Amino acid sequence: MVKPLAAAPPSADAPIASQLRRELRGDVLFGEADRGRYASDASIYQIMPIGVVVPRDQDDLLLALEIARHHATPVLARGAGTSQCGQTVAAALVIDNSKWLNKVIAFDAHERTVTVEPGIVLDHLNAWLKPHGLWFPVDVSTGAQCTLGGMAGNNSCGSRSIEYGNMVHNVLAIDAVLADGTRGRFGRLDEMPTSGRLHDISQGLRRIALRERDEIIERTPKVLRRVAGYNIDIFDCQSPRAYTDDGMANLAQILVGSEGTLAYSRQMTLALTSIPAHKVLGVVNFPTFYQAMDTAQHIVKLAPTAVELVDRTMIELSMDNPAFRPVIESALIGRPEAILLVEFAGEDREAQLTKLAQLAELMGDLKLPGSVVQMPGAAEQRALWEVRKAGLNIMMSMKGDGKPVSFIEDCAVPLEHLAEYTARLTEVFHRHGTEGTWYAHASVGTLHVRPILDMRRGGAKDMREIAEAAAALVHKYKGAYSGEHGDGLCRGEWVAWQYGARLNAAFAEIKDLFDPDNRFNPDKIVRPPKMDERSNFRFAPGYRELPLLPMLDWSAWNVKRNPLTGEESAPGSGGDRTGGLAKAVEMCNNNGHCRKFDAGTMCPSYRITRDERHLTRGRANTLRLAISGQLGRDGLASREVKDALELCVSCKGCKRDCPTGIDMARIKIEAQAAWRARHGLRLRDRLVAYLPRYAPYAAKVGRALALAERIPLLSGWAKQALGFAPQRALPRFSSAFLATAAAMKPARNDGKEVLLFVDTFNNYLEPENALAAQQVLEAAGYQVRFNALPGRRPLCCGRTYLAAGMVEQAKAEARRCLDALMPFVNRGVPVVGLEPSCLLSLRDEFLGYGYGEEAEQLSRSAYLFEEFLVEEKNHGRFALNLKPLPANKVLLHGHCHQKAFDAVRPVQAVLQWIPRLELSVIESSCCGMAGSFGYEAEHYEASLAMAELTLLPALRRADKDAIVVADGTSCRHQIHDGTAIDALHVARVLALSLKGGSPAELHGKRSHDHD
Ligand SMILES: Cc1cc2nc3c(=O)[nH]c(=O)nc-3n(C[C@H](O)[C@H](O)[C@H](O)COP(=O)(O)OP(=O)(O)OC[C@H]3O[C@@H](n4cnc5c(N)ncnc54)[C@H](O)[C@@H]3O)c2cc1C
Ligand code: SF4
Ligand code: SF4
Repeated sequence: MVKPLAAAPPSADAPIASQLRRELRGDVLFGEADRGRYASDASIYQIMPIGVVVPRDQDDLLLALEIARHHATPVLARGAGTSQCGQTVAAALVIDNSKWLNKVIAFDAHERTVTVEPGIVLDHLNAWLKPHGLWFPVDVSTGAQCTLGGMAGNNSCGSRSIEYGNMVHNVLAIDAVLADGTRGRFGRLDEMPTSGRLHDISQGLRRIALRERDEIIERTPKVLRRVAGYNIDIFDCQSPRAYTDDGMANLAQILVGSEGTLAYSRQMTLALTSIPAHKVLGVVNFPTFYQAMDTAQHIVKLAPTAVELVDRTMIELSMDNPAFRPVIESALIGRPEAILLVEFAGEDREAQLTKLAQLAELMGDLKLPGSVVQMPGAAEQRALWEVRKAGLNIMMSMKGDGKPVSFIEDCAVPLEHLAEYTARLTEVFHRHGTEGTWYAHASVGTLHVRPILDMRRGGAKDMREIAEAAAALVHKYKGAYSGEHGDGLCRGEWVAWQYGARLNAAFAEIKDLFDPDNRFNPDKIVRPPKMDERSNFRFAPGYRELPLLPMLDWSAWNVKRNPLTGEESAPGSGGDRTGGLAKAVEMCNNNGHCRKFDAGTMCPSYRITRDERHLTRGRANTLRLAISGQLGRDGLASREVKDALELCVSCKGCKRDCPTGIDMARIKIEAQAAWRARHGLRLRDRLVAYLPRYAPYAAKVGRALALAERIPLLSGWAKQALGFAPQRALPRFSSAFLATAAAMKPARNDGKEVLLFVDTFNNYLEPENALAAQQVLEAAGYQVRFNALPGRRPLCCGRTYLAAGMVEQAKAEARRCLDALMPFVNRGVPVVGLEPSCLLSLRDEFLGYGYGEEAEQLSRSAYLFEEFLVEEKNHGRFALNLKPLPANKVLLHGHCHQKAFDAVRPVQAVLQWIPRLELSVIESSCCGMAGSFGYEAEHYEASLAMAELTLLPALRRADKDAIVVADGTSCRHQIHDGTAIDALHVARVLALSLKGGSPAELHGKRSHDHD
């Protein structure tokens, strides 16, 4: 087993930790799990930091740096931690800028400059700039989460670098702090101080640059994409694109790409560009990959803003996805082996269209006439760029221990050698029994490729051999070994190889000039360790999962994969002694996508806290460390795991949005079960878990309960005693819908039979929804059956048990469902449900209980009400006579599980059947209620904060007569608590439209209305 974190010095009560806690206002995190969450970036490495600080503001930052200096402690600056080479891990005090140091400090629209703090996220900055018609054009793929500090640290490069250059071409000045505490502004040489430390540094740099001039000219690769070592060529630019307009050296540019080894950036001044008014896209189809690579050199002569490669594997991955298939098909001519996405952008649309025509002409000249699909429309372009991104994500979701590993991911070669380089490198992969999927910024010769390696076994050896072969090719073609992602631990040792011993020594001199005590991000760029130093690996020698018997079936993850053919072994054959649970957790490769704030659900708890602990990635890292014994012997049942999952609302946002498909809601069930087995259940958990069991009795005494709720002292005391939030009204039970609905009995199948699965919530709390669904289905001509068992309690999905980690009880409920429903399923009767989380349990959770083919069959037959209607209507099986509603504006909030299963679109579709209806979908994450989460006293604030992110403000802004549709019981409750609006299930809206409902009916009674 790897050394437990606790053994890594210093401990949580080390003098530096105590002083930081005493003096800082921001977070000071020295606990084992906290340090563990900052021990990795998006590379294969893991190094435990000494501690973590999240400074509140600039003063806090300066204080933290000062205290670190006082204790002679190394320091590592961190943004989003999305680096691929290990430059964001170190045995140091990590300072995380991303939570609070993210402000715009100054903006000059006329000069087109902006000054920002280092923790600001690129997309957030660009959203801020958009109203001014400007943007910061270094458009890296991780723009939704990466920070400007990290981008500068890495000298990041975007897809459109051919037009706009890299970070080094776009940073004007950096206000920095040196390791000795000196503060100053690094900018143009002629504006640097004329005395003091900064003066000494600029003079020292100049001396080194002058002395090494010949060597710099000789050894520096003459390609745009070159990010290794230090930019000592600022005095004599070797980049094909000038660093400054007038040739004057800019000292900020030596800090760019220095990976936090020279100085700590506090603020950065950036050059901005106008947002181009028009973009057009040409998709060139190639019969061979080689031709695609070979043609890029000719295409760039047309001055495109981007030329991006998508290979056959990626095309096929995209074609597998029904949503993406039509988009990618629209870009294809026949069956190409590769396509190039060629973008032209500018102010004059006609000029862009002419460029498109020239592209088609050029391809004709190159003997590929008719190979270009022209896409002048913005919507079609956006859709295709989305598919390209998603294709990469699917590739990352590969199961098994062999993973695509990033270490030669961004070698850049001159365009005329691109085709040869890729062909030779593919041969190298094959010699090592592996394969790589290619995507590329073809315009600038940067090839992204990740061979599949198993870093727990022979991967380190293959990695070195492949790296050496790739380096030899790069050398042959006079390219750059490090063309985008930086040096870090992975490529540090290649700096000397790229630049030679003499310049490598000069780099060490530069480091010593800035940081003689080697305290800022030590061991990066100069004096680095070997790339294959396995003790630095995330899966270090001795890494092993603690044995564990999971409650759910994880065998789909417990597989082996042939790296060459991509073939997967049978489920359960992967040799994982946790049955596949560990492998499911280890899928997270730390790419940081879950830190995004744009559309999509993932991850609401991070969005409200901005804490790594409450982030999908932080959770996956905590679980990985716990499962492998690196947080002590308690493993999955540890306090650290419980704390990390505390605010996870099981929204399944990650199941859909995470590129590797991390399903934290499912993993949380295991963790809850492990915790419960060790610590037992609280009364509150039992009350929630057994709700379906006592609901019939509660319904009988509903009036008495409602009365008790109206006596504030009594209800307040009871809620407090049980741990429920006093602000929340308790559910008000009604008589059960199913008690009066027809009992379930087998019937002849005339092809129009449907089973309406009425869940506990709609049965006892909002029976009007079930009634509405019945009316709609009957109006559409269906015989409606129900999940009522004569003389016995109704069927239940068991979700409330899962929330408490009571997996055995949930399984028992699933068994009851299968026994009762299979006769219907077997004769082709669809099972239709109203509550997304309940119905989708039949589709998803039931598959994890080991019930095999029966569960699979039920899963395939289970539909949400609106999904069923859309499916049937598409087959022309009914027509509904829907009438206009008195209110024609409708706002739709999708339940998280609907979003996770792409089931919001059917709700949109059925609503659009209603004449004259104007529908808008609220771009919201989770509503925050999430079953019992929002009722729990300690989660009340977090629950409301999630709702306040976008959902409640959007509702408050809406037309007061608008109908609000929300299919989730919890969502409707949260909406009412936050805005006093009565949202409706879509079934009720359809039922009202059938009747031509009155406004009063639209805002009808809620079952738990608040007086
Ligand atoms: C899926 C994926 C796609 C990617 N695509 C691209 C791409 O298209 N182009 C590209 O260039 N990169 C890409 N990257 C790499 C990475 O996302 C970028 O380099 C990104 O800019 C890093 O930002 P960050 O905030 O995560 O930096 P971090 O990883 O947090 O930090 C990066 C470096 O900067 C240093 N640093 C951070 N803040 C400061 C500061 N205030 N002062 C001094 N030093 C500091 C850190 O110490 C570290 O050495 C990709 C990564 C992934 C996982
Ligand atoms: S949880 Fe998913 S999205 Fe987040 S870092 Fe891990 S792999 Fe990326
Ligand atoms: S289930 Fe939701 S809250 Fe939990 S980690 Fe995933 S996205 Fe975040």
